[in-house]
Amino acid sequence: MVKLTELDHLPDGLLERPASALHHSLDGPALIHLEGRNKQPLFVSVLQHGNEVTGWEAVRRLLKSHYEFDELPRSLSILIGNTRAARHRLRRLDDQLDYNRCWPGGQHEDSEPGKLFRQVTDRMRSLSPIASMDIHNNTGLNPHYAAINRVRPEFLRLATTFSSKVVFFTTPLGTQSMAFSKFCPSTTLECGQAGAVHGTDHSIGFLEACMHKTAIPTTPMDANEVHLFHMVATVRVPDDVLIGFGNVPTEIAFRENLDVLNFQELPAGISLGDINGGPPQPLLVTDIDGNDVTCQYFRFDRDQIETIRTTMPSMLTLDRRVIYQDCLCYLMERINVADHVEISDRDPLPESLRRSDRPGEPCI
Ligand SMILES: [Zn+2]
Repeated sequence: MVKLTELDHLPDGLLERPASALHHSLDGPALIHLEGRNKQPLFVSVLQHGNEVTGWEAVRRLLKSHYEFDELPRSLSILIGNTRAARHRLRRLDDQLDYNRCWPGGQHEDSEPGKLFRQVTDRMRSLSPIASMDIHNNTGLNPHYAAINRVRPEFLRLATTFSSKVVFFTTPLGTQSMAFSKFCPSTTLECGQAGAVHGTDHSIGFLEACMHKTAIPTTPMDANEVHLFHMVATVRVPDDVLIGFGNVPTEIAFRENLDVLNFQELPAGISLGDINGGPPQPLLVTDIDGNDVTCQYFRFDRDQIETIRTTMPSMLTLDRRVIYQDCLCYLMERINVADHVEISDRDPLPESLRRSDRPGEPCI
């Protein structure tokens, strides 16, 4: 049985360590409980991806600057994730699974990290946290935004405390926020690029706000209080397609500043780049059920990657390694909160959303 490291204090000197040095104190995931005035904890997950350091920077700066001598207003349960990958400033090591695909409900539940995260989930469920947040970075130019897995008032209230831009997603499976969304309001924070101070400041503000809340309100939100987007598809580049940016002779030459298109609503007819030979379908777009829906979003017959419907990308990146390892981007559609909010606890995932927003025509 894999044993979870669980502590009721910070190991000596931990707050002095940047993410890349945490491995000296913690040889793997650790769950650290710090007691505050209000005993119902706030759960914070950092460093599930070892190179996404904003969450740890926010936690350690907050604890050092504000609470070294003062009592926390609320108990904190901190999960420090992939310290081994953080040592090498990598998302994950080659021999590791992506930690944020290993939580209950995903396909890697029986893996070593899967068993650890089952223990974290069971333990936290027993402590009834007020809320859960999982802090990430991304590599392209993206605004800060919060993601949720259930469209419920308290999830929206929590997410909009961080940003008015909220993304609803149901895949990939096995994420921390999805596992915790079964028992507490839960959100994933995307804090822009790692190392940018603004992302750390923003996360600290959010952490402080959540620690001081007595409860997450469950009052419904107006449509004008939140920009809610549904993640409907994932765009990948097959391994054997050569890509570049700008004026280059690769099979796909994406536009140089591709990532400025993140969170822009693109009409039909927008080109993401030039095609110079290569396979007839150089991108693969899959919907939330894994179906190939490429031809509903793009055409390639004019030597361009051209949109054929209104869509909004997020997470577009210029980092080739990320594109091949993870994806080129996600595609989103704007949805109206009022039409999709869950009205009953017995309606765990809004079926209406999965049906009505799924791109209609089958791909030929
Ligand atoms: Zn991440």
